[in-house]
Amino acid sequence: MAERVLEGGCQCGAVRYRIAGEPILSAICHCSMCRRAHAAPAVGWVMFQEGQVTFTKAEPARYASSVEAQRGFCPTCGTQISFTASFIPGLIDITTGSLDTPEAVPPTLHYWDTRRLPWMRIGDDLPRYPEFPPQE
Ligand SMILES: [Zn+2]
Ligand SMILES: [Zn+2]
Repeated sequence: MAERVLEGGCQCGAVRYRIAGEPILSAICHCSMCRRAHAAPAVGWVMFQEGQVTFTKAEPARYASSVEAQRGFCPTCGTQISFTASFIPGLIDITTGSLDTPEAVPPTLHYWDTRRLPWMRIGDDLPRYPEFPPQE
């Protein structure tokens, strides 16, 4: 079977990426840092090994949102693209919403549910973790 390839990028097209192989995890984060960075009530992330992801046009600009974490975004249009952090070495989160086919990687859990906005009611039966999900 051919290796799965996912592609995506920012709103203006300056940042594009190509991802080879299966994701490690697809999940929705309800933390207040993601909420602020994306100006959105919750944020979908798909996690990969860093080596699976190739930026094929401009590299994202990076902002250190904490001492441990870097958020990658398009310097032209501002679309949030990636998240890397010292507590997930070798891994990269890509925003589900920047994929060309976000429907291809449905989430399997919610995390930081303790920070979920009280008016955000979710009708799925997926597991909800109060903070980070357990790492395998
Ligand atoms: Zn852009
Ligand atoms: Zn978050």
